[in-house]
Amino acid sequence: MSYATYGGIGIGTKLALARVARFDRAYQRDQVREGASEIGMAFDAMEAAAERLESLANSTIAPASEILLAQSLMARDPAFRDAVAKEIDAGVEAGAAIVKSADGFASQLRDLGGYFAERSSDVLDVAHLALRLLQGVEPGVLPVRELPYVLVAKTLSPADTVNLDSTQVAALVTEQGGRTSHTSVIARSLGIPAVVGCAEARLLEDGEMVLVDPVAGEVVRQPDEYELIRRNAANRLRQKRKRVREDLVSSGRVELLVNAGAFDELAVIAAAESSGIGLLRTELIFMDRLEAPSVEEQIAVYAEVFAAFSGRKVVVRTLDSGADKPLAFLRRDKEPNPALGIRGLRTSSFAPKILEDQLQALSAASQNARCEVWVMAPMVATPREAREFVSHYHKYPVDKVGVMVEIPALALAAKRVIDEVDFASVGTNDLAQYAFAADREVSEFAELLDPWQPELLKLLGMVGEAGKAAGKPVGVCGEAASDPGLAVILAGLGATSLSMSSSALPEVREVLSSVKIRDARRAAKVAVSSASASEAKQAALKSLGWTE
Ligand code: PEP
Ligand code: MG
Repeated sequence: MSYATYGGIGIGTKLALARVARFDRAYQRDQVREGASEIGMAFDAMEAAAERLESLANSTIAPASEILLAQSLMARDPAFRDAVAKEIDAGVEAGAAIVKSADGFASQLRDLGGYFAERSSDVLDVAHLALRLLQGVEPGVLPVRELPYVLVAKTLSPADTVNLDSTQVAALVTEQGGRTSHTSVIARSLGIPAVVGCAEARLLEDGEMVLVDPVAGEVVRQPDEYELIRRNAANRLRQKRKRVREDLVSSGRVELLVNAGAFDELAVIAAAESSGIGLLRTELIFMDRLEAPSVEEQIAVYAEVFAAFSGRKVVVRTLDSGADKPLAFLRRDKEPNPALGIRGLRTSSFAPKILEDQLQALSAASQNARCEVWVMAPMVATPREAREFVSHYHKYPVDKVGVMVEIPALALAAKRVIDEVDFASVGTNDLAQYAFAADREVSEFAELLDPWQPELLKLLGMVGEAGKAAGKPVGVCGEAASDPGLAVILAGLGATSLSMSSSALPEVREVLSSVKIRDARRAAKVAVSSASASEAKQAALKSLGWTE
């Protein structure tokens, strides 16, 4: 046991110094009740889990209540039950059948990556709750200590954290989880600092002293006095970021929007303080389908989204199938390199009716909507493709038609593209992947794919400048917009809107509210002319006066 620093994803801004209280849930998979039929026991446990989650949801407020309700629906999902029944028919006992089925669903979600991957822990949480109820083990009893403690766990489910007492828990540290995982959402809503996705948290021992520094995204084991003073000073410096007049948000220079994927989380997303949806990933309604949904079915779904965002704006992306987002009914013969193959807008070359149906449904749903409906196409490579996409507008009108800039060639052609469209939105996830020829799913490429890479920022700046010259909006809807420091740089490069996960929004808003456009532009210039991603970050933060 000695001094060490472990990295993870930080949530919040307060430093916390306290002793570790470990919360390790042990699942005894073999202690299953004898007697009743296996299927009956499994279904009873799943129903008991659903009821438990529902009653926990009723005992709390959003966002925790929304998450718990969504999980209770999962526990009652017929597909989940069918999978459990199938396992039991094949001779697997009740508890193992629940866990095995959940593992299967979770791995499908992880394969989809990004947002879906983070939702995989929900299915596992539900399964583990059902398992504990099956075994008669009372869930969610957190440690009780005399002094506030740092709660350390492999993972925490919303059922565990819903009644968390912020006077008892000084901070949370988990091995798993990401910026948008539920532990992060709940920590943020309770104002408890956290470091999630910290794999080395498994090494922390019960009772030892740790310092949790969420801004640095670090957990310091056995910190010495110097460490404390240094981090306190750094934190004070950050606190100096005060609200300024004519800041990026209140001046209306940058609009803050949310990314939306799962339609069952609409209420959570709509509850976030935003100007609307900046990226509606419509693949979700097409997923797990053998055939494309009908125009009528799509109209109903879009109308629901538009109603939830009444008075705001919704930017819908047309179907982005292929590569990391495969769809059964749009699958082609095996492509040698799907990321460079027929994906996004390109699928309309062999399946034009699917795009036509979607545009027809969007246009129809927008007619009665009280929100502004903007529609954009993914994976557009040339100004001509942009023009062809926009030409559908005459038949299927909506408020604005635009394109995503995800292919470097399109960013280089920004000036010509912007003449063809009403707006552009930069997808930094794919733009980075194609600019650096580095697969976004491969974690070894994290450095190349770091959105602070000056060359990526240059491409973005070209789109920003083209938008400014033409007086047309340019958004950013990739993950880059969720990084509060980088959000400032994106604004400095000309982004007029930033779209991110709803959980990232409060922090980004806070930071953007402390910066004026001229300071953002100056920092952006410094970042773009840096030699590497880490230099760009350091130089930009220094230029903004956030570091010494
Ligand atoms: C992007 O590529 O940055 C983007 C927003 O789209 P997706 O992550 O869905 O490919
Ligand atoms: Mg993309």
